Amino acid sequence: MTAEHLDGNALAGPMAEIFAVDVTAATARCANCGLAGPIASLHVYGPEPGLVARCPSCGEVVLRLVRSLGAAWLDLRGAVSLRVSLPD
Ligand SMILES: [Zn+2]
Repeated sequence: MTAEHLDGNALAGPMAEIFAVDVTAATARCANCGLAGPIASLHVYGPEPGLVARCPSCGEVVLRLVRSLGAAWLDLRGAVSLRVSLPD
């Protein structure tokens, strides 16, 4: 039995829509304690060597963002999900 799949280019359109919005209004769910709240409510430390955003409830890292010349790294392993409101 084989599974049909598309390559990652199939994510280009849907992800461009998501990352074009003001992400501070998006709702992140903490992978450690399950608290769901707006990105704007996270406790952010940095900016050097990168931005680290921690859960306001349990203090665990929800996301990390590092910007360098020509690139950015976004680490979302501390978030179970990121909910972005979009127009219908
Ligand atoms: Zn938490």
